[in-house]
Formats: sequence, C-alpha cells, structure tokens
Amino acid sequence: VKKKGKQYANQAAAVNKTAVLGAGIMGGGIAYQSAYKGTPILMKDIKEEALQLGLQEARKLLGKQLERGRLSSDQVAEALSNIRPTLSYGDFGDVDLVVEAVVENPKVKEAVLAEVEGLLDDNATLTSNTSTISIDRLAANLKRPENFCGMHFFNPVHRMPLVEVIRGEKTSDAAVAATVAYARQMGKTPVVVNDCPGFLVNRVLFPYFGGFSQLVEQGADFERVDKVMEKFGWPMGPAYLLDVVGMDTAVHAQAVMAEGFPDRMAQEAKNGGKTAIQRMYDEDRLGQKNGKGFYRYE
Ligand code: NAD
Repeated sequence: VKKKGKQYANQAAAVNKTAVLGAGIMGGGIAYQSAYKGTPILMKDIKEEALQLGLQEARKLLGKQLERGRLSSDQVAEALSNIRPTLSYGDFGDVDLVVEAVVENPKVKEAVLAEVEGLLDDNATLTSNTSTISIDRLAANLKRPENFCGMHFFNPVHRMPLVEVIRGEKTSDAAVAATVAYARQMGKTPVVVNDCPGFLVNRVLFPYFGGFSQLVEQGADFERVDKVMEKFGWPMGPAYLLDVVGMDTAVHAQAVMAEGFPDRMAQEAKNGGKTAIQRMYDEDRLGQKNGKGFYRYE
C-alpha cells in the first residue's frame, strides 16, 4: 500500500499556523497536541459548548504535563495561548494547513470542506481526519483537489503515535509533504498510504476483529481470547480494544470494510453485519463510552 514519510521531508513548506474544524473528541485532541508541541491552531466548531469542552480537555492534559514536571507553568500558559477557539472563519486567511474533524457524515464533510476551501490561500493544505470516507470522494467537489489529503489520527490523539497521511488520486507531493511535516511537528509518526477502504490500519484491524467475532460466535470466551492475544504481544486483546474503539464506530467501519473487501470480510458481508460486534451494538453495549461493552466500566 505504501511509502514511507521520509522521502517528503525536504519538500515541505512551513506549517506555522493551522486550524482544526470540530472541537469534539478528535478535534479537541488535535488542538491540544498541536498547541503542546508549539504550532498555533484555530479550533473552530459550530457550538460554543463544544469549544469549551475542547479547551477543558486541553487544560486537563497540560495540567498533567505540569504535574509530571514536563512543562513549567509558563510553558502551560504558552501552550494554551496557542489554541484559539472560534465560532467563525474570520482568521482563516493565513492558515497553512486545516484538519477537518467534524462528524463522520460525507454530506456534512463535503459542505464544510467546500466552505473552508474558499477562504484559504491557494497554497494552503486541506486535510480530513475521516476514518471511513474515501479521500477521492471528498476531493471530488473541491476546486483544488491537489491540495487535499487525509490526515487520520487515532484516539486518544495525545497517546497514539501514528498518523495516516492518505494520498488521493489528485493529491500533490506538496500537500503530502506539508501534512507529513505537520504530523512530525506534533511529535507523531506519519505513514503515507493510498486511498482505499480502511486505509492501512483499519484494513488490517477489521478482518482481525472479524476473526475474533467469529470465535465468540462459536462459543469462545472473549476474556480468554484477550489474554491469549496479550501473551502473543499485543498491548490489549480484541474485546478490550473494541470497547475502546466503541461498538457504534466499529459497526460502521465493519460495514464499510465488508463493502470494500467482500472476500476478506466474508462473514460480515454474508450476514449483513450480524456479528458479535453488531449484537453488542444492538444491546446498547457500546464499550467504554457508555460504561458497558465486553467488559463493564464503573
Ligand atoms: P465528535 O462528535 O466528538 O465531534 C465532532 C464535532 O464537530 C462536534 O463538536 C460538532 O459540534 C462539530 N461540528 C459539526 N459540524 C461542524 C461544522 N460545520 N463546523 C465545525 N464543527 C462542526 O466526533 P469525533 O469522534 O471527534 O470524530 C470526528 C472525526 O474524526 C470523524 O470524521 C471521525 O470518523 C474521525 N475519527 C474519530 C475517531 C474516534 O475514535 N473518535 C478516530 C479517528 C478518526
């Protein structure tokens, strides 16, 4: 699938000012990480409440850095001042790179991307943190698809080192280079991948979840499977990982993967998604986000 990010290292334009659209779980995490590592970021949402939650999360994480002695109180204040919460597009004219992280709905994303593209400089890079929507599809309505690519972070952003930089058919080397450079500025490890269902990580992960789901359907004890996979060397087993991902997110990604790769996701495609994951979702066992998944969370 893939090329290493290194080859783009010398082609990058400076990424001095950035913006994130959406201040939710991912947008708030992206704003924190950018600010912590020293790149100013506008954090735009349509709800004041979301901006406040995003800032609260950043304050909490910076407070932890202070407690651990990694940052001084002056550095915490400086990092916080790097985040500029806003409900308007007023200051977007000189932004070098935008990460769109609004809800996972293609129509909403298409509208938001078209809206913001009109405000940006011709050389600015536009990216999307989508997990499941094709980058070429999102690029189709843009005036400058060459400036657009995926920038896929993982949750929680401050802990997960990997960022997938997804190259669409029309994405230029310059856009990839800027996105790789920004990921590095944020202290992350970028990997450049082509556009396909699941990109790289979910393309590997979901057939694995499918195998796990099948085992459970056939009567395996999920806790034992988790323990075995931990002994095998994974930091956590599939049941626990699914609880972290969330069954709603997993059901959606599973359907996208079953459509994209019907041969490899055979059971999911055949059963119309009626897997252990789907059954958990139907029983409102979403995972950590609502306190009950494969495991219970107090
Ligand atoms: P979320 O629901 O927590 O946040 C979405 C935010 O977008 C909300 O605050 C909402 O008010 C805001 N928003 C909606 N329309 C907007 C607009 N027009 N302009 C500005 N803000 C707008 O969602 P999330 O979990 O942060 O996911 C965001 C994106 O990141 C999705 O595309 C998702 O697939 C992707 N993603 C999520 C995860 C995850 O584990 N949560 C991981 C990787 C990628």
